[in-house]
Amino acid sequence: MSPPPGRGGELRIAAAYPNSYWVAMSNLGYQTTLRAFLERPGFDVRRVFWDGQSLHFPDGGRSLSEFDVVAFSVSYQPDMVHLPRMLEAGRLSISSPPGDRPIVIGGGVALTINPEPAAPLFDLIVIGDSEPVLPALMDLFLSGECDVESLFQSASELPGIYIPSLYITPEPSDSLYLLPVPGAGIPASVKRAAVQSIDPDPARPAVVAKQTEFGSMYLLEISRGCPGRCAFCAASSVCGQVRFLGLKRFQEELAVGMRYRKKIGLVGTAVSYHPHLLEIAQMVHEVGGRFSPSSIRLERMTPQLADQLAVSGHRTVALAPEAGTEDLRTTVGKGFPDKTALQAVDMLQHAGIPNVKLYFMVGLPGETDPDSSAIVGLVSDIRERVVQAGRKRGKVGTVSVNVNPFIPKPHTLFERKPIAEEDVLVRRLKGVRDGLGRLGGVKVQTGSVRGAYLDALLSLGDRRLAGLLGQLPRSGISLKRLDKIVKDASRILFERESADLPWTFIGND
Ligand code: SF4
Repeated sequence: MSPPPGRGGELRIAAAYPNSYWVAMSNLGYQTTLRAFLERPGFDVRRVFWDGQSLHFPDGGRSLSEFDVVAFSVSYQPDMVHLPRMLEAGRLSISSPPGDRPIVIGGGVALTINPEPAAPLFDLIVIGDSEPVLPALMDLFLSGECDVESLFQSASELPGIYIPSLYITPEPSDSLYLLPVPGAGIPASVKRAAVQSIDPDPARPAVVAKQTEFGSMYLLEISRGCPGRCAFCAASSVCGQVRFLGLKRFQEELAVGMRYRKKIGLVGTAVSYHPHLLEIAQMVHEVGGRFSPSSIRLERMTPQLADQLAVSGHRTVALAPEAGTEDLRTTVGKGFPDKTALQAVDMLQHAGIPNVKLYFMVGLPGETDPDSSAIVGLVSDIRERVVQAGRKRGKVGTVSVNVNPFIPKPHTLFERKPIAEEDVLVRRLKGVRDGLGRLGGVKVQTGSVRGAYLDALLSLGDRRLAGLLGQLPRSGISLKRLDKIVKDASRILFERESADLPWTFIGND
């Protein structure tokens, strides 16, 4: 490929996200890719989003087919259903020979966890961190290599690059899944690319935008990876070893961020494990800013952290007990007693933070009806603490509860566990909603069972899904309909226990 004439010698690249501008521009994974493209001379970069009906090109552009490279960042599995819709709307047929159309590349957490359900839609997928891979990949694009086959061959030698067409998927005889098998001379496994340290280039906005989900904040990554090892979560296995942003580097980025926003969003899967979180909070306050952590692990709450959150003006803090009983929490890797949750709430109340938001799951492996009912008991105890503290203060805070179905994910301890049956999820969600309703004074939101089935299949599926993505609604789908569209959908969701899994060719460094 060489820069076409008439474009100032630049390659045209579409930085695509399979959701709206509002969602995409608050996504630091997307912003990291965008930054890499924008900072590299030789590229004419245009953003492109999916507004639900059509492509949205905020920087100009009409069709994906007019670009040399289309680069998708995919963070959430349900967004995969937008990929074929975007390609079709952009008049880009992936079945045309790669030399006759733009090269389509992909990356992001969803594709790193399991690229297979969307693999045939890409020429090349970045598995893992994009930072160590993109510069070399951009070199290749700019190298003037005209023969696409040779370009793919060279790219396949880079760390973390997966070229789906180099892995064939023989029809299974009796196996549940289509398994990617490497062609001659192609490595049997793809190692996730990983940066040693996030200090040189922490994820942060390439473009600071207002009309976005977190438009009031300057988002800054302070951790990558997680030491938590919760059985349902892929963060510790997929995001690589734990890396924290150093204090000196944080201070430099804080100065940049404060030019744009007074609120700094601290992003990462292990924000509350950061060894200098309190110093970070103090540094933000010293320069007149406020901070907002993307999550706080409940057991990591301390009176000092609660005080710093209060100084930053937080009126609500979210905590995730995940399950109602200590036994089930132990099973999922969060084995703290109820009293730890109550103490965390007490710390927040004492610091003057009146409102608590709680996250739970139902349908967890090993869960029984009494386990899910116990969510109501724990919330009742928490509500009691909030009421007592509020009465002393003269104003009682709110307790809101989010309950979502458990979704098994690849590369987790629960990757072979079935998602719960529809009637079980419906019954347990209803039981918790009704029980919390009877308590009074608790706001409840329950997740969608149909959304959970869609997410689960797109997390756990294989290449056969790629041609069917366009038939799946982003909002979710009933199991009955899913079974009509996707052969073996139920078997994949419920009967993977002893199957060869299609994502095991992805390994760690
Ligand atoms: S749920 Fe949170 S604490 Fe547990 S492994 Fe995932 S990111 Fe870490």
